[in-house]
Amino acid sequence: MSRFIKNRYHGFASYTPGEQRNDGTYIKLNTNESPYPPAPEVQNALSQADLEAMRLYPDPTGKVLKDKLAALYNVQPENIFLSNGSDDILNFAMMAFVDEDEQIAFPEITYSFYEVIAALHDVRVNRIAVKDDLMIDPADYYSLNQNIVIPNPNAPTGTALSADEIEMIVHTNPDHVVLIDEAYVDFGAESVIPLTKVYDNLLVAHTFSKYASFAGGRLGFAVGSAGLIQDLMTIQYSTNPYNINRMTMRLAEATVDADTYYRANAERIKKTRARTVAALETMDFSVIPSMANFVFAKHACISGKTIYEQMLKRFVLIRHFDNPKITDYNRISIGSDEQMDFFLERLTEVLNAYS
Ligand SMILES: *Cc1c(COP(=O)(O)O)cnc(C)c1O
Repeated sequence: MSRFIKNRYHGFASYTPGEQRNDGTYIKLNTNESPYPPAPEVQNALSQADLEAMRLYPDPTGKVLKDKLAALYNVQPENIFLSNGSDDILNFAMMAFVDEDEQIAFPEITYSFYEVIAALHDVRVNRIAVKDDLMIDPADYYSLNQNIVIPNPNAPTGTALSADEIEMIVHTNPDHVVLIDEAYVDFGAESVIPLTKVYDNLLVAHTFSKYASFAGGRLGFAVGSAGLIQDLMTIQYSTNPYNINRMTMRLAEATVDADTYYRANAERIKKTRARTVAALETMDFSVIPSMANFVFAKHACISGKTIYEQMLKRFVLIRHFDNPKITDYNRISIGSDEQMDFFLERLTEVLNAYS
């Protein structure tokens, strides 16, 4: 840190992303990417004309992509905000909607980025405990009278609330924004996008990173009432008007066109998840019920850290969190069937060596 950094950022701890060892040596089950490649149409989407057009700025309104997303999700283009990955949505929402004397509430066990983004904007946080089984109790959020962000399904646990439960949270906090982060919703949970037509305080964040094999493309979008979307655009236009580059825009359009391909991949991942959970349970793991493309599992006797380290030695990357409340657990992304077979074989070795 230099001596020039603003006082309020002194000692600031930024978000730590999962390790990215992408040289092919490791089976990478630590950042919830899709094991499947983008659709063939996406791989072939960039034409010579698109490349020639790279000298021109992209369309700051993203009209073509918004029209496609609006048709897919049955909303109007004015209800959609495009962002450079969905973490930007959280950042802009924090700037747009949370006054500095207000609080933002989120589950105590959740995506650790929320904590960082709140600190960045000097906003106080209300960390709401999860139950002993790591489930969120929706009633804890009823009539809170605070801004709220909840991932559904939650990370890193994978547990999901029903749309009715979320509706009750939105309904009982009418004067605050409720942001539902649906990064993992396509793996079995219920989206609340339809409720954005009824509630002007509901904002839903999506990303192409997990479901649409597009983590490298950096495309997120939010759905909400036209007013909320306008506010996000005000912030975005004051930060980076051309936040989606031409290549990403073009590939994202092709991604929406290929939605049935990604839906089929999500179904494959759900099958692989069921098989993985069953195998883990026979190996003395307890697994939190997951609606996401990962599972959160702890072993009856061997520590989470040991399992993480021993798997790393065997070239399998999973995610271990230092938080003492979840230190027994590891988060394991669901890869392809072959990757999960390799994972389970290495895991058997570790269990044999340590029990
Ligand atoms: C991965 C993830 C995101 C953000 O992904 P981007 O790549 O920035 O779009 C947002 N929320 C949760 C809970 C995530 O796990």
